[in-house]
Amino acid sequence: MTTAYYSHPDCRRHDMGRGHPECPQRLDAIDDYLLSHGLNDALDRRDAPNVDPADLGRAHSSGYVGELRDVLEQVQVSGRSAALDPDTIASPGTLAAVLRAAGAAVAATDAVIDGEVENAFCAVRPPGHHATRDAAMGFCFFNNVAVAARHALDVRGLERVAIVDFDVHHGNGTEDIIANDDRVLMVSIFQHPLYPYSGGVPLGTNMVNLPIPPYTRGPEIRELIEANWMPRLEAFRPQMVFVSAGFDAHREDDLGQLGLVEADYEWMTLRIKAVADRHAGGRIVSCLEGGYNLGALARSVAAHVRVLAGV
Ligand SMILES: [Zn+2]
Repeated sequence: MTTAYYSHPDCRRHDMGRGHPECPQRLDAIDDYLLSHGLNDALDRRDAPNVDPADLGRAHSSGYVGELRDVLEQVQVSGRSAALDPDTIASPGTLAAVLRAAGAAVAATDAVIDGEVENAFCAVRPPGHHATRDAAMGFCFFNNVAVAARHALDVRGLERVAIVDFDVHHGNGTEDIIANDDRVLMVSIFQHPLYPYSGGVPLGTNMVNLPIPPYTRGPEIRELIEANWMPRLEAFRPQMVFVSAGFDAHREDDLGQLGLVEADYEWMTLRIKAVADRHAGGRIVSCLEGGYNLGALARSVAAHVRVLAGV
């Protein structure tokens, strides 16, 4: 069995301006590292298709999908960027990128459920986990993981899926969409307090939120995960596991102050894989979220993908 690697050149066309940390070079750094370390041979590389609008509507309100599409089309036609919030800027290439990013997550979900591959990693941008049902924010436009999870449930007929989010920022958008949807269990770690300053009090009983103080390092975080995520995941018995794979909790990443390193991402992926192997036939779809130090991002993605691919 293999690991699919979904990406698309359009994901590089989303450009929020010089100096913005969520930049096209993030994908180049990942690609270069995987190629130069011989990991490409272990991956089934696939072009991300455009998402079906009906899939967007399973996680977002129809009003929001329509409004965002209108804005992104205007920006594309005018050639002039527009800020949706102070950090989230639509550029002429953004429409193409958001459709590929969400399309990658859905296509990966189908490929894994159909048994074409065991698991998949989506090297896509923009990220998604801050996008709520009704709003873009925090570098995110559509919530790629929530869209894919709802596709697995509503279209593919799965009954229970887990979402694991290890980005340094709280996945407020995903929580907004899936809180109290009992078909989904979301487990996460995030630095607290830190943008978006949510997550301290979970919005639903299907959320396992682990707020972590700044400057916490890997060993303590591993203990918290073992004690809090694992029993809930075991009891939930997910039929598929989605990962919001942000790598900005790395100690070299300046957007947060947590102290994870590559070995911690390897360990977390092994724990996620153990749950998926036991309950979900190994089915994992992982989507890139944050990670802004290019070197640390590339090395951490490689550690994550090595475990997924078993190499
Ligand atoms: Zn983040």
